[in-house]
Amino acid sequence: MVNAKISTTVLFALAGFWCLFAWFASGHYSERREGAYIAHEIQAAQSNVDLISASIDRQIALTRAIPTVMASEPWLVQQLSKKFGTSVKRSPLSMPEHSKNLLADPQLSQLAGRLQGMVDRIGLSSLFVMNAAGDCVAEGHSTASSGFTGVNYADRKYFLEAQKGLNGHQFAVGRVTGAYGLFYSAPVLSENQFVGAVATRIDLAKISQSISEPGFLITDENGVIIHAQDKELLMCALPKAKIFEIPNSVREARYKRQLFATVELLPFGDKKHSQLFHWKSERQPYVLATQHISDTEVTIYLLKALGELSSFHNQRISWFALLALSGVAILLLLSGTLLFFKRNKAHLQKLAQINELLAEQANTDALTGCANRRHFLEVLDAERIRWSRYTEPFSVLALDLDHFKQINDRYGHPGGDAVLCHFVTEVQKLLRPTDLLGRMGGEEFAVLLTHTTGADAAATAERVRARISESSVLVGGETVKVTVSIGIAHWQGHDAENIDDLLKRSDEALYLAKNAGRNRVHDYGT
Ligand code: GH3
Ligand code: MG
Ligand code: MG
Repeated sequence: MVNAKISTTVLFALAGFWCLFAWFASGHYSERREGAYIAHEIQAAQSNVDLISASIDRQIALTRAIPTVMASEPWLVQQLSKKFGTSVKRSPLSMPEHSKNLLADPQLSQLAGRLQGMVDRIGLSSLFVMNAAGDCVAEGHSTASSGFTGVNYADRKYFLEAQKGLNGHQFAVGRVTGAYGLFYSAPVLSENQFVGAVATRIDLAKISQSISEPGFLITDENGVIIHAQDKELLMCALPKAKIFEIPNSVREARYKRQLFATVELLPFGDKKHSQLFHWKSERQPYVLATQHISDTEVTIYLLKALGELSSFHNQRISWFALLALSGVAILLLLSGTLLFFKRNKAHLQKLAQINELLAEQANTDALTGCANRRHFLEVLDAERIRWSRYTEPFSVLALDLDHFKQINDRYGHPGGDAVLCHFVTEVQKLLRPTDLLGRMGGEEFAVLLTHTTGADAAATAERVRARISESSVLVGGETVKVTVSIGIAHWQGHDAENIDDLLKRSDEALYLAKNAGRNRVHDYGT
């Protein structure tokens, strides 16, 4: 019982340990897979961003070369130096009037025609020429935008850089179009004197129109989103963007607005994966890849949702269940097998004990506990066989209680039984372990005396007779005495002799002992 309790406790403890192990192992495995998935997604997002940035770079490289090529055209140099010169001042006329005059000029119209031709052929947003005062004197533009001849750009960074004789660039909002674009400029020099500049604009929308990634964003140098697939994000700012440190007047001048909503892009809080972010209150984390576009103020971002991340948790549960159940099943199978063998062993042991008991019972007289008739005869026959090999002498005593009927009559059958038991107990005390007392029936007994010759047998018989006659037994409070008559026969070992003859002779000797007056010993051989 205690053993079974211990086994059950050990089994439960093992199952518990196994489940604990399965939980940690499945956790470790799922963490490794999760880490590999995140690393893969980060890499994929980064290479996507790199590809997008390379494509934008290519478009910009092509566009930025155009002002340089145009600015070196002798016809243009000649037109600007002749018409405006190096010291032209900004026109005092109103913008529409100034614009009208310029558009009416046949040479400038011709120049505008050429610029428009290039815009149409190359697919630029606009291409325009400014005089040394920064007035746009001729331009070509895409159909989406409107004309801006006569507008002054002297304050633009790209113009100021051209004025210094450099190729300029600037990210800015179109003064007339209001669209975000990258401006590239080149100075027009006549005999090393600045006579004007050629500039072109590429709209960001145009650059990124081929990019259809849903999480694709472009920010300017102030962290303001100037392009996004999701139009709601336009003019929002990234958290902690530079725009929030800029005075309102500058914001107004640049963006025509002062307030900027912050997009929700917060660290996911996973210490192992710092590149994970919360995006717009969504539950799933996002990976963020960024790339700055060289020679521009813009940075591109790509946000990619890790939609499969939650499945790792479910997978962990499945792996745990599988591992735990299979382990527990194996454990149960092993303990079941062990229990089966243990029970089987105990069962076999019990069976052996029962068999032993049965064998003993089969050989024993139920009342007195001495050998029964069948067993006595078996042993006697075995002794005969032994004699045939070793010629060991042996003798048999036939014993019969005297006047036993009277004992029964007087003390009842149970009283008689008690006397029989007493008789057996007393006789056993006098015999050697190699001797055997057997009950042959009723109150008749026999003793096999091994390795015993005639005189010794007679002495033993006499000791038995004397002991019984001297002893007594208490039956129902009364002291009962009994005597026994004994006949002795010796194995003679001649060819024709058998066990029956021997027993017959001992019976005959007993008969003679009875006849001689009972409580006596008679040796057949004397
Ligand atoms: P004798 O001296 O001539 O041997 O006289 P006896 O009375 O012993 O003679 P007998 O052999 O005729 O009687 C034996 C009696 O033993 C008869 C029977 O009732 C009784 N007996 C036989 N087996 C048992 C037994 O198992 N228990 C008891 N109590 N009595 C038994
Ligand atoms: Mg008798
Ligand atoms: Mg008798």
